[in-house]
Amino acid sequence: MPGNLRFDELVQKVADGNIDTVLVCMADMQGRLMGKRFHAQNFIDTSYKETHCCNYLLATDLEMATPDGYDSTSWEKGYGDYMMKPDLDTIRVLPWLDGTAMVLCDVLDHDEQPIPHSPRAILKKQIHRLKAMGFDAMMATELEFFLFEKSLDDIRKSGFTNLEPISGYNEDYHIFQTTKEEGIMRPIRNHLYNAGIPIENSKGEAEAGQEELNIRYAEAMLCADHHTIAKHAIKEIAWQQGHAATFLPKWDHNRVGSSSHVHQSLWVNGEPVFYDKNDPLGMSDVMRHYMAGLIKYAADYTCFLAPYVNSYKRFAKGTFAPTKAIWSVDNRTAAFRLCGAHGKGIRVECRTGGSDLNPYLALAAQLAAGMKGLEDKLELAPPTRGDLYEIDSKQEIPRTLRAATEALRNSTMLKEAMGDDVIKHYTRAAEWEQEEFDRVVTDWEIARGFERS
Ligand code: ADP
Repeated sequence: MPGNLRFDELVQKVADGNIDTVLVCMADMQGRLMGKRFHAQNFIDTSYKETHCCNYLLATDLEMATPDGYDSTSWEKGYGDYMMKPDLDTIRVLPWLDGTAMVLCDVLDHDEQPIPHSPRAILKKQIHRLKAMGFDAMMATELEFFLFEKSLDDIRKSGFTNLEPISGYNEDYHIFQTTKEEGIMRPIRNHLYNAGIPIENSKGEAEAGQEELNIRYAEAMLCADHHTIAKHAIKEIAWQQGHAATFLPKWDHNRVGSSSHVHQSLWVNGEPVFYDKNDPLGMSDVMRHYMAGLIKYAADYTCFLAPYVNSYKRFAKGTFAPTKAIWSVDNRTAAFRLCGAHGKGIRVECRTGGSDLNPYLALAAQLAAGMKGLEDKLELAPPTRGDLYEIDSKQEIPRTLRAATEALRNSTMLKEAMGDDVIKHYTRAAEWEQEEFDRVVTDWEIARGFERS
């Protein structure tokens, strides 16, 4: 069971007075939880069947704007409703909120058909395609983020200036510094674990105030659900403790950014099929074809790994964020890093994704690329060695949202896998982000030119 509570157990907890609130949530285009807080009695009496939300929730941006250019909804069409259908297998108690449970929803139209551009529907479709080919995907997403001394509300009120990370030095793997952060990190690990999310560990990351949370790999949909709930919990628990957690990939150009690396392997009947004991590296043909697909189509799906203007500031030499879509064996300068060579735990880690990715979209797009590699039996080039920042390769990861948007717009592979309408929808989302950025005068321009231009 993906959650940690059956519906009848929820009913009992409501009767016992242990649960009084149920968060009924969907994942939006940005990977955020959106929805309503139900009185638990209403949820178990009626709303467990369905509730509704305005359909702009899947045609908006981080600011909740109403951009034009979407076919699915508009002012013209009157911004009607979608049905939010609770997936009762995902009910879980949220130990960090008093008396509160949560359920995730699928987003449906009035005929109870999935909304094609709903992130959960997009991932479901790719999982079904993969199943039809005989495979299951096991995936894990790492969550990197920064913790700050002040609270989100204080930081916002002071105009996001004078940002002070919670620690004073690079805390990569540091036990002492991360002990100082246990007031936030320990409840994050324990509350999430008790909410049914198999936390492996947290660790200090390679910048002042940067932490990483690792969750045990799981079937693709579970992995995306875990990521979404964990990201939400990290922000919420840090806020409860009077601090801020941010998943903005690059909040300071002089510092390392935050990623969300994606580990992936294919399985058949509960056994990993990326492993071949007769291969020098332990890679099966299935793995080689899958990785060749991931690499060939890396530009096509970059928008799903780096959805905002800021996301592209991460891709910089010498920062552990990749710049080339090539692979290597256990090498952190490659976009595709072979992990666990020579053993059954062999997997590919895609290092392109930023901490701001929407996991449903990121996993779906990578599965689509990998499947195309399998279908076309694509050949994997030999691994590259050394410092890949310095390698002369044409396989560049798009360096701007503009370039990634063009690659998405023209991706026949993604249109075939996800549908023309879905790619058009997300191309519009990416265009809108760029349009919003382009019309704003930044602090950098003013400081540079105010006196001297
Ligand atoms: P590293 O320290 O190199 O990043 P870890 O051992 O911490 O690697 O593993 C990173 C992630 O990979 C973890 O979330 C783990 O659950 C996941 N993982 C391990 N084995 C597999 C596998 N076979 N398929 C997919 N993910 C896996």
